[in-house]
Amino acid sequence: MRTDFDLLIIGGGLVGACLAALAASDRELSRLKIALLEAQPPTQPPDEGDIDLRVSAISRASERIFAACGAWSTLPPQHLSAYSEMVVWDATGRPCGAGSLRFSAAESGEPDLGHIVENRRLLWSLYNAPAFRSRVTVLRAELTALTLAGDHSVVTLADGRSISARLAVGADGAASMSRRLAGIDTGGWEYEQHAFVTHVRTAHPHRHTAWQRFLPAGPLAFLPLADGRSSIVWTTTPSHAEHLVTADAGTVAVEMAAAIDGVFGALQIAASRAKFPLRLSFARDYCKPGFALVGDAAHSVHPLAGQGVNLGFLDCAALIQVLSDELASGARSETLAEHRLLRRYERWRKSENTVALGLIDGINRLFSNESESLTWLRRMGLSTVNRSLQARRMLMGRALGTAGELPASARPQIKSVHR
Ligand SMILES: Cc1cc2nc3c(=O)[nH]c(=O)nc-3n(C[C@H](O)[C@H](O)[C@H](O)COP(=O)(O)OP(=O)(O)OC[C@H]3O[C@@H](n4cnc5c(N)ncnc54)[C@H](O)[C@@H]3O)c2cc1C
Repeated sequence: MRTDFDLLIIGGGLVGACLAALAASDRELSRLKIALLEAQPPTQPPDEGDIDLRVSAISRASERIFAACGAWSTLPPQHLSAYSEMVVWDATGRPCGAGSLRFSAAESGEPDLGHIVENRRLLWSLYNAPAFRSRVTVLRAELTALTLAGDHSVVTLADGRSISARLAVGADGAASMSRRLAGIDTGGWEYEQHAFVTHVRTAHPHRHTAWQRFLPAGPLAFLPLADGRSSIVWTTTPSHAEHLVTADAGTVAVEMAAAIDGVFGALQIAASRAKFPLRLSFARDYCKPGFALVGDAAHSVHPLAGQGVNLGFLDCAALIQVLSDELASGARSETLAEHRLLRRYERWRKSENTVALGLIDGINRLFSNESESLTWLRRMGLSTVNRSLQARRMLMGRALGTAGELPASARPQIKSVHR
């Protein structure tokens, strides 16, 4: 049967928009009709203006994926804050002494360890990638129902329209309605932690370094912003997060300056303040015939390692590679709904994401407590890893997103030489 679209992506946040941009720029998928369904498509962020509260640490792998779909070059360089060092230390240690771990781009042979970028600028760059603009139909609407018919799917929108697609992909975030409508269960748990976020001005410069101190209630991260301020992600108890949002800004600044071990000297809160509840969740299945999940709809993780959206971008690159390889082998677009094909994507990304989720959750458990034996273990562990270049390189590979089985668009691109 004929469908309205070959590929319909439900949810045009960072991950859904990335999937659309990758699909639009893939040569093998050039015959496909692609649509992106989003309740609130983005508007252009002002060229100047304050840095938005929501920023992400973007890994090397994600940078390559953005480059592959033409979205990296549309990001204004003045809005990219590259960081070349990372310092992580335990509450009982010091940033430079025992119980600390330092990574540097120089010893990994990389120009930097990643970039801090506003989410809204990342999103706008995806919607403005040339292939996205020329090939993706953006449907501003809300999903209300989904029927999986095996060889195609039908979505019903809040305005009553019905749209059919060969393959529908749920990219509608952690509370995914499409996942629920597809009958896919999730597992996971709430963390007794909230993430408090703001930006601060600091007496001492950030030195293009991402700083993270593990405190008993959760980690406090200072991420370097392009304008010299630092973006804060402070994971702590829900009641403490409430205090950080509502207490006098001067009081919170003094408290935060002490909590980061005085690394930055005096601080000033220099943005609005917000907090987010945290949970770990994972979909039991990543696909059904005619349907697949990507991004937070498939898994959501603790923000301590800055991996959530980076894992989602890798999902997109892997799914597009599986679909592209299928069409390159001469298959017809009807096969894109087939479960055996989507299972290939599921096996690939579920195993990678499960390792990442387990590692991040394990780090949170190991560090967010005051048990004496675990304190000793942490200090020993950090110091031992810090002394071993090989161990540091392995962890840097995780941070850069270059560990594990990478899709082609996340690997280093070899430039062809024209004579
Ligand atoms: C404090 C904090 C800091 C973080 N820092 C980092 C970081 O540094 N690095 C990192 O990698 N990750 C980070 N993350 C995680 C990251 O923010 C998420 O992984 C990412 O935003 C998920 O993107 P997504 O596109 O999958 O989902 P979402 O961003 O939730 O997007 C879903 C989209 O679907 C749309 N939608 C939903 N329902 C419907 C519907 N019924 N109909 C139509 N559209 C719909 C929504 O409007 C939205 O646009 C952080 C998270 C937090 C809380």
